[in-house]
Parts: sequence; C-alpha cells; structure tokens
Amino acid sequence: MKDPQPTVSRREFITATSAALLASGATGATSTAAESADASKLAMLGGRKAVKKAPSSVRRWGDLERERLNAMLEQDTLFYWKGPQTTLALERFRKIHPFKYAQTCTSGTAALHIAVTAAGIGPGDEVITSPITDIGTVIGVLYQQGVPVFADLGATTYNLDPADVERRITPKTKAIIAVHLCGNPCDMNALKAIADKHKLVLIEDCCQAWGAKYRGQPIGTVGHIACWSLQNSKHITAGDGGVVASSDERFGPLLQRCGDKGGDRVKGGGFHMFATNYRMNEPSAAVFAAQLERLEGVASKRAKLGNLLTEKIAGIPGILPHQVHPEDRCVYWFYFMRFKPESFRCKRAEFVKALAAEGVSCSAGYIGVPLHREPVFQNHAFFAGHWPVREMGLTTMDFTKHQTPEVEAILQNGIRFTIHEGMTEEYILGAAEAVRKVAKHFAV
Ligand SMILES: *Cc1c(COP(=O)(O)O)cnc(C)c1O
Repeated sequence: MKDPQPTVSRREFITATSAALLASGATGATSTAAESADASKLAMLGGRKAVKKAPSSVRRWGDLERERLNAMLEQDTLFYWKGPQTTLALERFRKIHPFKYAQTCTSGTAALHIAVTAAGIGPGDEVITSPITDIGTVIGVLYQQGVPVFADLGATTYNLDPADVERRITPKTKAIIAVHLCGNPCDMNALKAIADKHKLVLIEDCCQAWGAKYRGQPIGTVGHIACWSLQNSKHITAGDGGVVASSDERFGPLLQRCGDKGGDRVKGGGFHMFATNYRMNEPSAAVFAAQLERLEGVASKRAKLGNLLTEKIAGIPGILPHQVHPEDRCVYWFYFMRFKPESFRCKRAEFVKALAAEGVSCSAGYIGVPLHREPVFQNHAFFAGHWPVREMGLTTMDFTKHQTPEVEAILQNGIRFTIHEGMTEEYILGAAEAVRKVAKHFAV
C-alpha cells in the first residue's frame, strides 16, 4: 500500500482558507502605495499578516500502521523475541542505518540507559554531555551511579563544543554522549578524535535526529553506540518506544541483555549481568515498522523547509540563523535562531509576540534552564533525597558550581520555530518575511 498524503480535514481547510481571506483583507483590490505601507506595518499594530495561510496539520499515521497492526493481531504471540513485527522493524531500521546490532526498547531514555550500561558506566564514572537536552539523556547515567558532566555548546549549532568537552575530561571520564539537538548533527569528527585519544566511549543521542545525515552518512554511525526515541513528538513514533544500535563488537552483543533483565536469549546460561526490563512489545513494533516507511518523506521535507528558512533570513541584522554544516542534513525537530538583544529596541518576548501576530508558529527559548540548574541537580537529590556516589566520596561534583555561559545565552535569546512536514514553502517564505519585517521595525 502506498504511503497516503498528509490529509487536511474539511474543518481545517475552511479555517485555513478563512484565515487566509482575513489576512489578505479579501478586497480583491490591486496593489497601491497604501498597501505596501501596510505590508511593512506589523500585524500586531493592525498591519497585514506576513503569513498568508496558516499551515495545515498532518495525519501522521493511517493505513500503513493499520496494515501492520492487523498482521500483528493474527499472531499467536505479542512478545518481542523473534516477533515478526520486531524483526521487520529492525530489518527496515537497518536498511536505513547499517548497524550490525540493534535492539528495540520502550523509550529514548531506555535506549540511552541500555547504551551506558553496555558501555560499562559504573559508580563515579564521568560522562560528558549537553545541558540543553531532554533529561532522558542523563537518567541512565545517574541510574548506573555515573556522574553527568555538562559541557558548553556552540553558539548557533547548539551542539557540544569539542574544545570545551576536552577541557572537562578527567581521569574519571569514561564516555561522551553527543546530542544532535533539533536534528542537527554534532561535529562528530572532532568528538571521535577526542574519544579515541582519551579512550572514551562515544554515544550518539539521535532522539531528535531521525533521518539526519553526517557528511552524507546516516546519523549514529560515527560513534560506538546510537540511540533513538519513538516518543509521540519525534519525527516518527509509536506513542513511546526506542531503539539502540551498535556495530562495535564490544558493545553490540550486550544491547539485548542490557534491555532485557541481563539475560542472554541466544546463549541462555543465567544472569551474569544486571539490567532492567525495557522490552518493546509487538503492537509498538508494528507501528514502528510502518512509521519507518514514512521516515524519508518526513526527514527530507523538514530538511528542505528548515534550510529554506535559513536562506531567507540570512543577513538580517541581529538575527543568527540555525547553523548547519553544508555537508550535513539537519532534520529540524524544530528550528532555533538567535536574537541579539543589543540589536533591537525590544525584548525577546515582544519580538516573539510580534512574530506570532504575523502568523508564525514560534515561541521563546526551549527548556527553561540548563539541566544542571534544575532543582533535582542543584539539590543532588537523585535517590530518595540522596546521591550515594557523592556521599561515598566517589565524586566531588557540585552542580551548584557548574557553569556553561554560552548555554545560558542560548536559552536566554533563542527563538524556536515549529517545523513540520505539513508545512509548505509558501508558509516558510511568509515566516521569513515576518522575521525581516519585525526585525526592521524593532532595529536600534
Ligand atoms: C525525546 C528525547 C529523549 C528521551 O526520549 P523518550 O523516548 O522521551 O524517553 C532523549 N534525548 C533527546 C535529545 C530527546 O529529544
């Protein structure tokens, strides 16, 4: 069955059409001087909206998923091991990402926990990562009694700054988790060189990077272990779910055990290692298998739209577009640009309000504070109010003293734009026009 086109409901069509009619004034009048003055007047102040037609929503699942779920219901087991849906999902996953070993699991957090368990992270071991990410990036590190060490980020890539990563390496450092934020590939050549030089395990958090490419290669294939999430907000989804993969003979064979209570389903032989149960069931795997058929369409569309936005807002004074390496494919889980406060007469909040009035789907910032400034880190209160490794003297980490200045600046003046595969190039042109118009209005 062919992948259905994103459909727009009748109500959405009518809403979008009437919004467009309202936005254009629906007068049918030809262009006049008054009208062009109107075009530069902010919508917030009664001018015409830069975005003429609101983007329609997308149907992200349908017949492909129904077909897989129906096949699943004919089975006599819904368990993952040798399950037909799990087997098919991993086959399709490996066709896109050529890994020797891959294991489905219940979430991106689970995938990352499996990865650090397989990497042998233990009490007091330090793992360097980004403080602008989902907390799931470090939950597994903490559960293995490891110590997350947060490094600073590139000003407009929002990814690990390799020089700062290297500065934070100590004799206790065991691994780096590179988070491809927004689906923008990290500087993997630099991070791999650092990992090799210091004998560290390099883990890739690809949860926001489904379909991304690093120097033309599928994301996840430079490091030792890579992790994905299938949570509802990600490019493809099973509601929840995850996958962890490796081609490294030291880690790959451990992935199954690390997500399945420590037991080896191939060799048997009791429990030689300790792990929790992160198994994904067949109903989720059925949806995952179907969603993989949609991945390339979703990824290529988002890459195109995000790059178009960059092209169209390039050179606007005070605006820094999302920086992507020209040989990489960023899949824009969202688009993040920076606003230089010194270039404008308004605060970020007002700038965002003006953009929203123009019809742009955007918001200020991303997560409220860097992870290490969240109360659970500030209080070192991970386990019933305690952090055993600190109390036992295995680490001297004090998150109240941890500093990442560029990260603070990114969160203070970043502006986030929604990008999704239901959007049109016309919408992006409107959004870019809105940025230009609002920036000009508030320029110092
Ligand atoms: C979503 C996400 C996770 C966690 O995935 P879950 O499936 O929600 O557990 C981890 N890292 C990043 C970068 C994410 O975006």
